[in-house]
Amino acid sequence: AKTETLLEVNNIEVIYNHVILVLKGVSLNVPKGGITALLGGNGAGKTTTLKAISNLLHSERGTVTKGSIQYRGARVQDLSPEALVKMGVIQVMEGRHCFEHLTVEENLMTGAYTRNDGAGAVSADLDMVYTYFPRLKERRKSQAGYTSGGEQQMCAIGRALMSRPETILLDEPSMGLAPQLVEEIFTIVKNLNEQEGVSFLLAEQNTNVALRFAHQGYILESGRVVMEGPAKELRENPDVKEFYLGMS
Ligand code: ATP
Repeated sequence: AKTETLLEVNNIEVIYNHVILVLKGVSLNVPKGGITALLGGNGAGKTTTLKAISNLLHSERGTVTKGSIQYRGARVQDLSPEALVKMGVIQVMEGRHCFEHLTVEENLMTGAYTRNDGAGAVSADLDMVYTYFPRLKERRKSQAGYTSGGEQQMCAIGRALMSRPETILLDEPSMGLAPQLVEEIFTIVKNLNEQEGVSFLLAEQNTNVALRFAHQGYILESGRVVMEGPAKELRENPDVKEFYLGMS
């Protein structure tokens, strides 16, 4: 059976401040039910690509000047982030962004604000989030600002889940976390993908861990996709090994 494509980014260019060309024609597809990794070093354009998709560039004076972005065949370029959430696409930004003064559970509940399917459904999803993130359940009454970096990352993903997304755009989930926690978070992402059917587009500098958990990947360099393919092929590619996996 042919896999359905959810997100289709076609040859986009992004310019900051009217002059700085940062994405120079990026194309990528996110298939339904998959984990797609967007890889590349510092400044390659990963965050810019995610923000272009979720229309978060305006506050940074960034503009998509060419190309198209479609979700389920519909143009999403001019939708607000909220409208995109209603379509089933939500971004978890780099650096976590939990509300520090709210408890973990209050943070999770803020993720349900776009829904109108009733308190019962929302509370069932809160239970679902706690099933995947038992640590969040333990910490549910704690103020988010006092939880660890790993717990805040989990809280940010959990909050995104509360909008019942079909696709999560996850920016640099490994950032600043110890290897064991990175492993824990990626394992949960994999479980959510396999058991809840959530599709992921995840931006990562940690090529090694991302290519172990993702099904396919794209490698960005200076605003261009320089390599793409199934994760297994990328892991075995000599250039990827040398430049991204440190195995030369
Ligand atoms: P990182 O892992 O550091 O976030 P990245 O691959 O996500 O890297 P981007 O954050 O997308 O890269 O940045 C791509 C390029 O765009 C970089 O050269 C960066 O300096 C530049 N850039 C990012 N934001 C802005 C902005 N608001 N104004 C001007 N240039 C920007």
